[in-house]
Amino acid sequence: MLEPLHACNLRCNGCGRVREYAATVGQRLSVGQCLAALDECGAPIVSLCGGEPLIYPEIEQLTGEILGRRKHVYLCTNGVLLERKLSGFPRSNRLMMNVHLDGMEATHDAAAGREGVFAAAVEGIAAAKQAGFLVYTNTTLYKHTDLNEIAVLFEYLTELRVDGMMISPAFGYAAVQDENPARAETMFMTRDEVHRKFRQARKLLGRFRGTASPVYLDFLCGQRDLPCAAWANPTYNLAGWRSPCYLMADAHHATYRELLEETDWSGFGPGGDARCRHCLVHCGFEPAAVLAGRHFRDLLKMAVWQMT
Ligand code: SF4
Repeated sequence: MLEPLHACNLRCNGCGRVREYAATVGQRLSVGQCLAALDECGAPIVSLCGGEPLIYPEIEQLTGEILGRRKHVYLCTNGVLLERKLSGFPRSNRLMMNVHLDGMEATHDAAAGREGVFAAAVEGIAAAKQAGFLVYTNTTLYKHTDLNEIAVLFEYLTELRVDGMMISPAFGYAAVQDENPARAETMFMTRDEVHRKFRQARKLLGRFRGTASPVYLDFLCGQRDLPCAAWANPTYNLAGWRSPCYLMADAHHATYRELLEETDWSGFGPGGDARCRHCLVHCGFEPAAVLAGRHFRDLLKMAVWQMT
């Protein structure tokens, strides 16, 4: 997870970054700093996020440099500037545009805090598909999310020829909870609530092109346990390497090696640190699902999913 800046053109309900890094929101990493971090950790896949990566002035150059290192790029955007910026990006089957959409127009615009965000994102998706890019979407399921509306959204995205749709659980964590605890209570789910929501989601949305792996989905549905593997999906930004994970920042380290060596990983994950109690986040557990290849049954499940 590479955050070249934290500035954003929106202020969405579920996002902690613009609040957490308010003091440095006007600053950004240089392309050289981003590449040095990537070269140090050797990640095969880079999620370019933030903030809004499309307002990073050198985003096209940075993306090109990462692709030139034969890495995969997952460019996580709110989509508002996607159509305008498309022409600067190379066509590559290793570049995935990942647009955040939390529902149909009224719902998404309310979550994003501004009218017109859904329309702009959809125009960006259509333009990107038209131009031959791979396009994915990311949808956060909140406590109040109506899954029937998400089914309608996914029908629409299928018509737009979106290549895959990711769903993520909204659970409380410090950066979003502290600002308005009463509102957080109505939005964010406990672990049991996530399990119930995702069991329903799996039934209702299973026919669409989901991008969550089947092992991770089993975990989201409460059918199995996984250990946290946040060390395998680290976050780098202006403050350094975030320890222990994308959600919590007990410390920032100057190098990836320091992050690995100076974090007591045994203290985190389900059953560990109290703050991890409701966490089922992609960056902590999708790597664990991939590593679940220890069990032949999981390996087979993941291989079949990859092939189909
Ligand atoms: S369980 Fe979640 S909150 Fe805890 S360290 Fe892992 S990713 Fe972070």
